[in-house]
Amino acid sequence: PESKLPALGTTIFSQMSALAQQHNAINLSQGFPDFDGPHYLQQRLAHHVGQGANQYAPMTGVPALREAIAKKTAELYGYKPDANSEITVTAGATEALFAAITALVRAGDEVICFDPSYDSYAPAVTLAGGVLKRIALQPPAFRVDWQAFKALLSPRTRLVILNTPHNPSATVWQQSDFNALWQAIADQQIYVLSDEVYEHICFDANGHASVLAHQQLRQRAVAVSSFGKTFHMTGWKVGYCVAPAAISSEVRKVHQYLTFSVNTPAQLAIADMLEQEPAHYRQLPEFYRARRDRFVQALARSRFKLLPCEGTYFLLADYSAISSLDDVAFCQWLTKEAGVAAIPLSVFCADAFPHKLIRLCFAKREATLDAAAERLCQL
Ligand code: PMP
Ligand code: GLN
Repeated sequence: PESKLPALGTTIFSQMSALAQQHNAINLSQGFPDFDGPHYLQQRLAHHVGQGANQYAPMTGVPALREAIAKKTAELYGYKPDANSEITVTAGATEALFAAITALVRAGDEVICFDPSYDSYAPAVTLAGGVLKRIALQPPAFRVDWQAFKALLSPRTRLVILNTPHNPSATVWQQSDFNALWQAIADQQIYVLSDEVYEHICFDANGHASVLAHQQLRQRAVAVSSFGKTFHMTGWKVGYCVAPAAISSEVRKVHQYLTFSVNTPAQLAIADMLEQEPAHYRQLPEFYRARRDRFVQALARSRFKLLPCEGTYFLLADYSAISSLDDVAFCQWLTKEAGVAAIPLSVFCADAFPHKLIRLCFAKREATLDAAAERLCQL
């Protein structure tokens, strides 16, 4: 059949994890922990399965989980969304992003995103008939040029997609970025899709700036979160989005026919976890800071030049002192020859991205990080 997405192949994450497996390399490519999530969470899952909570959940998510999310949001961002009308539990952040884009973007609408951008945004925009306008952020700071942003706005602009803490650059937005965004779009009816899956993995002294903390922006925003990141359970695929009732209602129209609802016992277990052990996510920055610092220190004697990591569990490394290969070729070489798999950055960009940067995931056991650093230091 004629493809609706002719230029698209298999995601870089599947590709690199498969290559890592094939060559028995240490996999620092696809972002997932190689350790387990909290024991309590596992116990609660078993508990709810044993109690027979095994049928369809309500379409919008189990009430206990939506209540717990409302409470957490109020505590962290000073705004309590209505659990009934403003919170929707989804099959990971991926589904929330797809449902929001499908619900908001009409044929011919323009959507602005910032490159490098997470790879699931563009195909969703294309399938909705939207036109993506990309702003290229430049390393090492990857800051938004707000003049360039304003120049890209048009009467057709419908949606802005942002991501903070940012995968893959590991930079974070400040409150001032949200203020600048608001100033730029205030007088036009433009929606905001804020991908905040790494909200609890932020090392910046100011903490995570959420769109939900911005009084005006949140009235037009869909904020997306993922419990996979927060509880080290990427395979559970439970996420959610928060948006004003009128927007949530549109997102739910898509969600109800995309997945209808998300698996019940996992939702109940996560609700228990949020209620009983909020210390888990409060301590997450420290938990990952220790791993980041250990890995950075172990790589200090390598020929890689490391970029600052303000958030996420990814570290960018410049390999220009080691190789002149482009980043895709270098990542393949690194996996096959050096036994460490990483992610190239150019795959997240529409324009040429000639920088010699790779992304390394440090959501790994200390032994894994040490072994990977050992190999990387030999290059
Ligand atoms: N957005 C970003 C920026 C991500 O890095 C990821 C996953 N790594 C997702 C969305 C998808 O999250 P989930 O696994 O919950 O679908
Ligand atoms: N988001 C994860 C990453 O950036 C991967 C998710 C996936 O494999 N779909 O590595």
